[in-house]
Amino acid sequence: MIHFVGAGPGAPDLITLRGADLLKKTDCIIYAGSLVNPALLEYTKPGCRIHNSAIMTLEEVIDVMKEMEAAGMDTVRLHTGDASLYGAIREQMDLLDELGIAYDDTPGVSSFSGAAAALRAEYTLPGVSQSVVITRMAGRTPVPEKESLASFAVHDSTMVIFLSTGLLEDVSRELIAGGRGADDPAAIVYKATWPDEKVVYCTIGTLAEAARRENVTKTALILIGGFLNEGYERSRLYDPGFTTEFREAVK
Ligand code: SAH
Repeated sequence: MIHFVGAGPGAPDLITLRGADLLKKTDCIIYAGSLVNPALLEYTKPGCRIHNSAIMTLEEVIDVMKEMEAAGMDTVRLHTGDASLYGAIREQMDLLDELGIAYDDTPGVSSFSGAAAALRAEYTLPGVSQSVVITRMAGRTPVPEKESLASFAVHDSTMVIFLSTGLLEDVSRELIAGGRGADDPAAIVYKATWPDEKVVYCTIGTLAEAARRENVTKTALILIGGFLNEGYERSRLYDPGFTTEFREAVK
């Protein structure tokens, strides 16, 4: 059996209990060495085989899984954050389906949640935005034309931009083309939840400059939106004047 596991954003105690349990029991682990905290490998039992997928192709990853399966042993495929975002798990799952190898998937804390915690922020503030756009700039992986940053920027919603730290001039230009202001607030969160986590506040127009100044070139998220400002409305849920399913309004 193959277990896809979300490792969380960095801090080793941010893996789920289920994920940690699978790590402790597994015979083999294939981890995304570019971003997964190697401290998580300490959870494994003696003799556990360890592979770093950063230096492997998809075929090599599947070959290891096949070999373990043939020997009747388990493999954990450890992906950074939550594997459903930019995890390249679908192509692995499809090949496993072809081979008739069973797998399951344990979710993880995504780095977008880690970044919110680093900022001590709420992405969905009443009166500000009730939506979060998770996206990226096109790099070697193309982004469908209808999903340009400019087209999402139009909505004034909260935006979490992955995989784009090397393209910040383009990020600013696209956001401004979509109607956001060059002076609107922005934040860069580098290595959220790692010991060397860094939070940089700037504006949409100064993203590239701020990243250069702070030496941030990768492993960062760009956060955009009014949630970074002061103003918002109180929630209805905790408003004394509102009756909810669980609580009568205070008269
Ligand atoms: N599945 C992962 C994302 C993988 S894509 C998740 O759910 O978080 C890799 C990108 O994620 C990086 O280029 C960076 O933009 C972002 N990222 C991953 N870990 C991060 C962290 N601890 N802090 C900030 N950004 C991170």
